[in-house]
Amino acid sequence: METVFSGIQPSGELHLGNYLGAVRNWVRMQEQYRCFICIVDYHAITQNYDPETLAQRTLEMATDLLACGIDPERTVLFVQSSVPEHTELCWILNTVTPFGDLGRMTQFKDKSEKQTDNINAGLFNYPVLQAADIILYKATVVPVGADQLQHLELAREIVRRFNARWGEYFPEPKALLSSTPKILGLDGQAKMSKSIGNTIALGEDDDSIRQKLATAATDPARVRRKDPGNPDVCNIHTLHTFFSDEERIQWVRSGCMTAGIGCFDCKKALADNLIAHLQPIRERRAHLQANPKEVGEILRQGARKARTVARQTVSEVRQRVGLWS
Ligand code: SF4
Repeated sequence: METVFSGIQPSGELHLGNYLGAVRNWVRMQEQYRCFICIVDYHAITQNYDPETLAQRTLEMATDLLACGIDPERTVLFVQSSVPEHTELCWILNTVTPFGDLGRMTQFKDKSEKQTDNINAGLFNYPVLQAADIILYKATVVPVGADQLQHLELAREIVRRFNARWGEYFPEPKALLSSTPKILGLDGQAKMSKSIGNTIALGEDDDSIRQKLATAATDPARVRRKDPGNPDVCNIHTLHTFFSDEERIQWVRSGCMTAGIGCFDCKKALADNLIAHLQPIRERRAHLQANPKEVGEILRQGARKARTVARQTVSEVRQRVGLWS
């Protein structure tokens, strides 16, 4: 069984973009792979953040992941900072990471432009910690979106350099590119993102979901009810492809293109199906929210399992590198 590693920032509640783009796939992958899912709080503190709420948002993220179907019996779910071997390995990997490569990372440039008051070394070294996250568990499969490919390629380069300097040890991780199209936010313009405020959270109540969908962007060329629309440029249609059955999707497509249906009816049908889909997730979520100790214990157990593997890796790495112990 191959090992998969994936990380997610402790941004609090999951939204539809996280769910469709990543979490849903992780739940499926549990069937086929040995999975490590890590809430990456050390990565989160490289950006401007609120220390008062970080721990709570970490717990909320774990709650939502479990509610979506991450099974702690099959997946090691843990918090990055609970396993100090991540940063220990990161330091060693720093010594085989080309400085110039880090400076070329698109995400470093983007984030630096967004937080000009806080361009810190952690932001610069972010991909090295990411490489450590992955190879600490000798993961060979990393589910990624296209925006993460550059970091994964650097992780592979770091592995090659490590192996060339200290002997063949780490496997090169491979990208498992997500086939999910980019999930746009309710504005129909930008990727769904909490920082932009164009999301639907998984825990949102029915009224809120209906209200948000009612004002969501559609085909901008369909101005009047009698105008035919183009479902291929409409985010509501994209969401139907995830939450509606084939018959309903065809109803949307043909009704839209012939002006046989209005956007109001189309959105109402989506809201009905989305709410039905989220219902079991929200029930599990409510149970876990009422039992935060249960979630905390799952994270602690996950950290224990992760550390067993991580300690072994770091111990072998220390020997190869020649550190005194
Ligand atoms: Fe979008 Fe549906 Fe309106 Fe067509 S009918 S533009 S798919 S919301």
